[in-house]
Amino acid sequence: MQHTNSLRWFDNHCHLESEVRPGQEQLAASELLADARGAGVVGFVDVAVDLKSSRRCLAVARAEPDVWATVGVHPHSATEGFGGIEDLARSELSSGALVAIGECGLDYHYDHSPREVQRAVFEEHIGLATALDLPLVIHTREAWEDTFAILESLGVPRRVVFHCFTGGPAEAERAVAMGALLSISGIVTFGSAGELRDAVRCAPLDHLMVETDTPYLAPVPHRGRPNRPALVAAVGERVAEVKDLTVAEVSAGTVATTERFYGVRARRQPGHPQSQP
Ligand SMILES: [Zn+2]
Repeated sequence: MQHTNSLRWFDNHCHLESEVRPGQEQLAASELLADARGAGVVGFVDVAVDLKSSRRCLAVARAEPDVWATVGVHPHSATEGFGGIEDLARSELSSGALVAIGECGLDYHYDHSPREVQRAVFEEHIGLATALDLPLVIHTREAWEDTFAILESLGVPRRVVFHCFTGGPAEAERAVAMGALLSISGIVTFGSAGELRDAVRCAPLDHLMVETDTPYLAPVPHRGRPNRPALVAAVGERVAEVKDLTVAEVSAGTVATTERFYGVRARRQPGHPQSQP
């Protein structure tokens, strides 16, 4: 029997201070972190969705040794524009807290912002990621063709991740061919996600990372409650099963890939950072 509770995990995409649905209760960021550290999570990327949350993510990352931040504007908030993001990113370049630009991209499922505005704001993020040589965190939903076309026309930044990847084998192959990584969320545990599991099966392990997208997308059997970074292991375990690898191989492989991608070093041992020598 495999002892999975000593394994290390890196939740490369969570929203530590995001609001949850009315009637639900979410733990405070400090409680989410303590809970996850106890479950073997040794690193976190706290992902921004607008200018205000960009500042908040940076503040958490400056205070916590195992948390890093992004700055960017989610396609849902694209009408808010790109103002302030570039200055904020440039001012943080030497702090060590900022590791990526995003999440940004296109969401044609909800269309909360007009599509031409989403495209223009996405293009600004691509330009900034290239100018600063930072990883780009992409959110794309029902918009694969435009997403690939924009990346190809502007030039693909050196490091790109498709967060919460929900494509099938064809999209995975195209993303990997452009040098991008796929970040796998709790959707991989859903009964309906057969096509995604096919993509995970085909994709090379060194192109995969795992995430929770806390507070969204709780994995099976935790549906109906806010997600938390401690549950990232459930994603990794399902990835291992799908790829016919050991959980230890997926744990070690995804942590190493995540460290390389963001240029960070996660804690070597699970547990609380202060308890280490
Ligand atoms: Zn997200």
